[in-house]
Amino acid sequence: MERSAKNRYIAPRYTMRTAIISDIHSNLEALTAVLSMIDAIQPDNILCLGDIVGYGANPAECVDLIRARGIPAVCGNHDLGAAGVLEEEQFSEAARRGLEWSRKYLSSEQLEYLRSLPLTIDHPDFKAVHSSPDVPMEFRYLFQPLDAAESFDHFSQYLCFVGHTHRPVIFSHAGVEHKIMKDRQYIVNVGSVGQPRDGDWRGCFVLFDSERWSVNHVRVEYDNNMARHKIIDAGLPQKLGDRLMVGV
Ligand code: ZN
Repeated sequence: MERSAKNRYIAPRYTMRTAIISDIHSNLEALTAVLSMIDAIQPDNILCLGDIVGYGANPAECVDLIRARGIPAVCGNHDLGAAGVLEEEQFSEAARRGLEWSRKYLSSEQLEYLRSLPLTIDHPDFKAVHSSPDVPMEFRYLFQPLDAAESFDHFSQYLCFVGHTHRPVIFSHAGVEHKIMKDRQYIVNVGSVGQPRDGDWRGCFVLFDSERWSVNHVRVEYDNNMARHKIIDAGLPQKLGDRLMVGV
């Protein structure tokens, strides 16, 4: 039976894969390795949840790479600290040394870029924010389900992607989850590219598939020894290098 052109028409399916990276922290080795993995996966979009700079030895290179790739980003507390928007007293001693280092090596134009980053990005499927959607400028840490509980009222989408703690995790209203389901709200911490703190030294990012409605944390090996050496050679605190070897 001959089918009409109308019947042969296949409606385009709305499929979208988004790679979400966060907390790069001037770790060029980790960022390069993670972007290579993302390029192999070929998602439709890449998004950055902030803290491009701080702690590590390549702040300018990491800012340049994010901008050259045209990756939209929200601002993290370290980005605003380096740009002089947040008071230095809000950071630990080691973090302050990292920020002072960053400021020396970032051009005024790069600092202006960091200052210009939005606090949140809204997509039809998700909200993106560095720390928490309820008070984005306070950079609250969502470590436990209880910390996340009050955030669920502050985004209208089903998903909110966050970073900041450097620990990959999925929170629902009920607690910690291993996967997401349709029609329920989740806060997904995408982990950290350049300074993981969950006991796994490998760089971390999230791949979100809006067709399968799935969220996967992906781990990427990189030359952490090189990143550590650069930190020590730069005269930054040794512990900022050492922690990269063990992911704490
Ligand atoms: Zn961070």
